[in-house]
This record gives sequence, C-alpha cells and structure tokens, in this order.
Amino acid sequence: MALDDQDIRRLGRCVELARAAVAAGDEPFGSLLVDADGRILFEDHNHVAGGDATAHPELAIAQWAAAHLSPDQRARATVYTSGEHCPMCSAAHAWVGLGRIVFAVASAQLSRWLADWRAPLPPVATLPISAIAPQLTVDGPAAQYRDEVMALYAAKFRP
Ligand SMILES: [Zn+2]
Repeated sequence: MALDDQDIRRLGRCVELARAAVAAGDEPFGSLLVDADGRILFEDHNHVAGGDATAHPELAIAQWAAAHLSPDQRARATVYTSGEHCPMCSAAHAWVGLGRIVFAVASAQLSRWLADWRAPLPPVATLPISAIAPQLTVDGPAAQYRDEVMALYAAKFRP
C-alpha cells in the first residue's frame, strides 16, 4: 500500500517524538498506535537512557495493545514508527497480532549510516521486519523524513 497524506502526517508525529527522545537523553525513535477509526491510542518514544535497552516504543505499544485491545482491535490497528522495528519489536508486534506497520526510515538504512560513521553496531541484527514476521503488512520508507531522521541518528550515534 502506498503512503497517503495521513500516513505522512502520522510519521511526522513519530519523528517529533524521536526528537523529544534525543532531548531527553534517549535514542531517536518514536511510535504511534492508531485504531481503525484513526484515533491515536498510544504514543511514546524510546526510554533506554534509564538502563533498560529493551525500552523501545514499539515494544511498549505491543504490550499496551495486548493489555487493552481485543484481538480484532489489534488486527485493525496500525503502528507508525520513525525507524523500522527491530527484531524484538517485530516479534512482539506479530505475537500480539497487531496490524499494519508504517515506518519512516528502514533498519537497513540505519545500519548503512552506522557503518559509514564507524559507529558501534547494535547488539541485535538490523533485519527487516519481513525477515522476522513475514505475514505483516509493512509500508515505508518515507523519503521526506530521511534527512531529518538521519540528523537525529547522527546526533545520537555518530562518534
Ligand atoms: Zn525495538
């Protein structure tokens, strides 16, 4: 599915959350959970600065959805995220039965930038969501956010 104007706007909110994360000392990743009627149910950014490296917003969304939504509501919900889900979050998303994912910047792009910058690689492989959860509907990247997200990643990860 192509990205429409609403998708692009929601990704813009994810990038704002990623920017807020950097301002708070966290890593630049932000995500939204949107229900079938277009309401934002949950939004958050990365919270790894406290020492829990699993405190990713996409994992928080999967856990919130499992606790608060029916299986049908989860399947009809969409998760928007500034950076493509990592393998942990892809697995959590699929295990709780959430629906479509829309991301601004791909994991493969992040790993190319990290390599270019000679930055430390993450401890978990930067696999695409499709390698972890091949049945999910996934759309992205959104070229209009590439430079903005790259600047946020550079601010946090570039040595
Ligand atoms: Zn993750």
